[in-house]
Amino acid sequence: MYTLVELPYAPEALQPAISAQTLSFHHGKHLQTYVDNLNKLLVGSEFEGKSLEEIVGQAPAGAIFNNAGQILNHEMYFMQFRPAAEAKERPSGALAMQIDKQWGSLDAFKAEFEAKGTSLFGSGWVWLSADKDGSLVITQETNASNPLVRGLKPLLTFDVWEHAYYLDYQNRRAAHLAALWPIVDWSVIESRNSI
Ligand code: MN
Repeated sequence: MYTLVELPYAPEALQPAISAQTLSFHHGKHLQTYVDNLNKLLVGSEFEGKSLEEIVGQAPAGAIFNNAGQILNHEMYFMQFRPAAEAKERPSGALAMQIDKQWGSLDAFKAEFEAKGTSLFGSGWVWLSADKDGSLVITQETNASNPLVRGLKPLLTFDVWEHAYYLDYQNRRAAHLAALWPIVDWSVIESRNSI
């Protein structure tokens, strides 16, 4: 049985980037529904007892993949954030060096990440991942997909489904994505990169 991940911050803690109302619907309604759906779908299936990563890596396109993918994606999304005052505001060490090597600066990386999130058609996720050689890559994943289906190690993601921003930003997806950086805790992203 999967359960709803507990958030390490209060519903209002990510304001103004994400309002308490958006956070409570996004976590308490949208993610809870994916958890409930997956628990029902797994009964008697070959994926019962497997990890989210195993299900996303092995399940064919369909309801089990979609609900497991959305749980994995949202857990990585919510757990990478912290209140702006607590979040590590920029990467350091190996991850910072790799970003500088590939993009020239953190700001240039952020600009490409935001642009790829803004240009993703329809619902999905923009991701920063590492490949097997440690190079970084930004990918657009539609609907419930995750970079691990491409053999990548997912590090950072912004949700571009409308439910992630419509209450606060209406159609202004680009403005929402640009507002998220202060709540990204780069210590979380670094720890995912070093696993
Ligand atoms: Mn979402």
